[in-house]
Amino acid sequence: MKLEKFSFGIGDRFAHQGKAQLAAIIKAKQQGCNIVPVWNKSNREHSIIGTEPADVKKEAEAAVKALGWKDSYYIDADHINLNNVDGFIDSSNFFTLDVADYIGQKCDEKDLKAFVAANKKFIGKIEIPGIGEKLNITQSDLEKIGAKFLLAVKKAGETYRHVAAKKGADKFVTEVSVDESNLPQSPVEMLFILSAIAAEGIPAQTIAPKFTGRFNKGVDYVGNVAQFEKEFNEDIAVINFVIKQFGLPATLKLSVHSGSDKFSIYTPIKKALKKFNAGLHLKTAGTTWLEEIIGLALAGGCGLDIAKEVYKQALEHFDELCGPYATVIDINKSKLPSPEEVFKWDSTKYANTLRHDQKCKDYNPNFRQLIHVGYKIAAKMGHCYIEALEKYEDVIAKTVTENIYDRHIKRVFLD
Ligand SMILES: [Zn+2]
Repeated sequence: MKLEKFSFGIGDRFAHQGKAQLAAIIKAKQQGCNIVPVWNKSNREHSIIGTEPADVKKEAEAAVKALGWKDSYYIDADHINLNNVDGFIDSSNFFTLDVADYIGQKCDEKDLKAFVAANKKFIGKIEIPGIGEKLNITQSDLEKIGAKFLLAVKKAGETYRHVAAKKGADKFVTEVSVDESNLPQSPVEMLFILSAIAAEGIPAQTIAPKFTGRFNKGVDYVGNVAQFEKEFNEDIAVINFVIKQFGLPATLKLSVHSGSDKFSIYTPIKKALKKFNAGLHLKTAGTTWLEEIIGLALAGGCGLDIAKEVYKQALEHFDELCGPYATVIDINKSKLPSPEEVFKWDSTKYANTLRHDQKCKDYNPNFRQLIHVGYKIAAKMGHCYIEALEKYEDVIAKTVTENIYDRHIKRVFLD
């Protein structure tokens, strides 16, 4: 199964925006830009909301059918490992093997020796087309990189083979993700992680590194954009190199787990894709839920009431909601409005506070991040929330489509 050049990770906490999201991808296609949708939902999201992987498949199939989508589409078992992959095998055809937890853990001495021996030919100065200066690699670099990443790659191999045995190796796309780790990976580390992935026999088509800078949920990139740009370009150069060197799939490309809305790096990404004629997988799923809340607020009436109630309860459950996301959010509590204040807001004020428009004076990234992690509150509201989504479908669908098309697809893939 070959993944297309451009793919877009869409996701949907409550499985009601399948059509609205696909509509954005269809809009891109009408502009001559071919992107395939990848519906993703992590085990964490499923367990917080109480959904099953099969629900995502059902949603995707219904959207594809309703809108007459004839191209490929994928269902991503996002951030899975050997412990939780089984529930995803039937309904997914894309597996994101998350092995970040094993980074830095001790691997087998014999494996380490074999890794160093296999990569000895790279010791010295090597030239990688597309990277300005030659890379200087020592024996000790190889040993350090092997010690840090080898166990993680071995674990990815175990999970890959487990899925392949149950599903058939040609029935799915494999991604390896190391993005949820503490430190960014350098292009040299990427080179040898990919060497190990090839040696392990994993036909990875996407690799999700951790890039430099902070990728907080639902808000813009925080970090050195020039440094990101350099790394991103070098990572693509490394990928082109390893495809030939190690015989990895020709479709191998970078996967950016953006945590949504990293607008300030979209221009450097777009430039690099053009320069290298490279592909990209962009995951930016979580903000669809925020667009639901914006849509509810804009709808007014009980839609606005629900949006306000979600905020009130999110504030009450601040620690519980933020806990699982502690490393990927930065909320300044003193900048959060009180629920009493929010209850006085009209539709426009609420939507402007939440919507990711940095030029709008009402925009509040602290408010936005809290709502971002607050979907459990809506899940607890149960049918009352779902009924509101159905009642105000038109307004919500418009905000969901606009968000994906105008703020993301246009900025990354179109001129
Ligand atoms: Zn990720």
